[in-house]
Amino acid sequence: DAGIDHIPSNDFTYYDHVLDMAATVGAVPERYGWNGQGEVDPDIFFAMARGNAKVGAMEMTKWFDTNYHYIVPEFHQGMKFQLAGNKALRHYEQAKKLGIQTRPVLLGPVSFLLLGKMKADAVPASKNNSAMEHGQGDALSLLEGLLPVYEKILGQLADAGAEWVQIDEPCFVLDQPQAARDALKRAYELLTKVSPKLKLLVAAYFDDLGDNLATVFGLPVAGVHLDLNRAPQQLEAALKAARKDQVISLGLIDGRNIWRTDLSAALPVIAKAVAAQGSDKIFIAPSCSLLHTPVDLDSETLMDAELKPWLAFARQKLSEIAALAAAVNGHKNKAVFEASDKAADSRKTSARIHNPAVQDRLAKVTPEMLRRRKPFSQRVVLQRQALNLPLFPTTTIGSFPQTAEIRNARADFKAGKMKMPHYKDFLKKEIAMCVQIQEEIGIDVFVHGEAERNDMVEYFGEQMNGYTFTKFGWVQSYGSRCVKPPIIFGDISRPLPMTVDWSVYAQSLTKKPMKGMLTGPVTILQWSFVRDDQPRSVTAGQLALALRDEVLDLEEAGIKVIQIDEPAVREGLPLRRKNWQSYLRWAVDAFRLASAGVRDETQMHTHMCYAEFNDIIEAVAEMDADVISIETSRSQMELLEAFVSFKYPNEIGPGVYDIHSPRVVPQAEMETLLRKAAAVLRPEQIWVNPDCGLKTRKWEETKLCLKNLVGAAKTLRMETTERLEARKAVGGSSSIH
Ligand code: GLN
Ligand code: ZN
Repeated sequence: DAGIDHIPSNDFTYYDHVLDMAATVGAVPERYGWNGQGEVDPDIFFAMARGNAKVGAMEMTKWFDTNYHYIVPEFHQGMKFQLAGNKALRHYEQAKKLGIQTRPVLLGPVSFLLLGKMKADAVPASKNNSAMEHGQGDALSLLEGLLPVYEKILGQLADAGAEWVQIDEPCFVLDQPQAARDALKRAYELLTKVSPKLKLLVAAYFDDLGDNLATVFGLPVAGVHLDLNRAPQQLEAALKAARKDQVISLGLIDGRNIWRTDLSAALPVIAKAVAAQGSDKIFIAPSCSLLHTPVDLDSETLMDAELKPWLAFARQKLSEIAALAAAVNGHKNKAVFEASDKAADSRKTSARIHNPAVQDRLAKVTPEMLRRRKPFSQRVVLQRQALNLPLFPTTTIGSFPQTAEIRNARADFKAGKMKMPHYKDFLKKEIAMCVQIQEEIGIDVFVHGEAERNDMVEYFGEQMNGYTFTKFGWVQSYGSRCVKPPIIFGDISRPLPMTVDWSVYAQSLTKKPMKGMLTGPVTILQWSFVRDDQPRSVTAGQLALALRDEVLDLEEAGIKVIQIDEPAVREGLPLRRKNWQSYLRWAVDAFRLASAGVRDETQMHTHMCYAEFNDIIEAVAEMDADVISIETSRSQMELLEAFVSFKYPNEIGPGVYDIHSPRVVPQAEMETLLRKAAAVLRPEQIWVNPDCGLKTRKWEETKLCLKNLVGAAKTLRMETTERLEARKAVGGSSSIH
């Protein structure tokens, strides 16, 4: 309907398209009990995706730097592939019956292998054997066995009448060794021979092809798709590298964000490509799959009338593509271009976006503002005095169970069925209950439980200027789960304190220190749709200033411990290593700007919930939080290795139990983990806490787990003190180490 010429198919999936590919080529791990006959049936498909009563799910991870997830394919040496079911063909034929010639989309063989993991053979599912994780080998060695399956898929598509097939090889926007480029050449030499009728379009997106560009254009394929939104600079090289008979698909429309395209700015880019390559060899396209944008802006009937014309969701983006194509072909729709120009102009000048006071304040940030007054070694002494904590202090990450009652009350409040005073009373009761429970269990540093928060980003976004929200702006995250990222459209400021009242109320109920709880600038940025009219670093700086004010207000109100969660720092890493340093610089600075304004005796915490620290450990240390809590229980404290070789200077709470599971973890298990930690860290460095927030858990199991956690901390305290006494008795050093 929008006038798109090449309509993709096979882009629908019951879970994710990587799992689809695994099912298509019969890459089903033995433990799922597939009989190897015909298509992988839905029960097995969903067991792989989500687990069932008998067998756990396969590993799931983020798709490049998006919040969309895929199930990680599992491979092993000598693995055999087979065509288990040609879903691409089925979908192609289904569309064809409706009179629509589609361009089937497949995940390419080389990226499919690179995205998977080699595992050691036949490890029983019940044994959580670490050899399974490390059973290495090179997945690319499986290419020869995989290609015949792709040849069959393509052969069947060609026979059915397909003209173009899009094969995604997004792994080539990443740093790759020569072996991967060789694999790509080998694969497409074979695949382009399948049928003279079939044209292959190799697609890459999310960054530039860079040092892989020559290889990709050197493939004997009919076309290459480029992400010119993320990486406009590669067009120049692409025009030089492309064969004259090759199509270049210009990914100009931002598939990762919600902004309206500046059509007048896009037009000359297309004109340049057309001049070089000829108009029949240029496609106009979104930068990547539109699954990363919400569906239809027209559904947002309540949206602010000034902001709405600045935006475009998937449907609107299709119209933009059609409008650009028409314009290049001499049928420029004046009205459409005028509307686009108007939106672009108004974004440049709107007072809703541009706040000189905020810009001025950010410009005046001094290096001192990024530094705590004293170094950690001196702060820690003051903090010990101020907080009077035992060795191995216990705490939690922030949220407590979000019960159905809490969710109902919030829904009633939002719907206007529950009035503000009533809702506030309800939340206060929740907080009081959380305090009481922590009191009974004997936790050392309390939290208020975060019952007032729907979401750790939206909660703050709703209270800051420069943010807007959608009603239906959902994007897929995993399976049928979606997220609705808020939109940062303008300069960020904080008109009023956002968390202070709740923290102060919670602190009034106990003598134990109550930890203030904030979401960090990088995480807020990462989990929102962000501005495309200024660098991300600038937006992060503005968020940091707003949070800095919040931190100082909390301190002023008597809160002595403040945590700034930054779970998204790792996922914000650029795809190419060469861009890591500059990202880490501003990301660390944003955290420091938010956190460093406090007095030395105020203890700043941060939290990150993932295990791959090796790449960023130095940057994490540079954030200079007094205490960091991290996820470690699932990897059995493996990640602490990173903290050992680097000698992490400040305090650490390595998570002692996995909050993703309802299992009540025995105290002895937590003690074992803590002893592992104590073997590599100084005892006075160690905090005792779960892996992450407890909002998805039930109270029943939470209480039992936390009792065991406190018990484990006590055991470790005792053991450490005994060790110390023993050393003293033989006249050794008095250091605890
Ligand atoms: N403070 C948050 C919570 O406990 C942290 C969540 C997170 O790291 N994702 O829920
Ligand atoms: Zn977490």
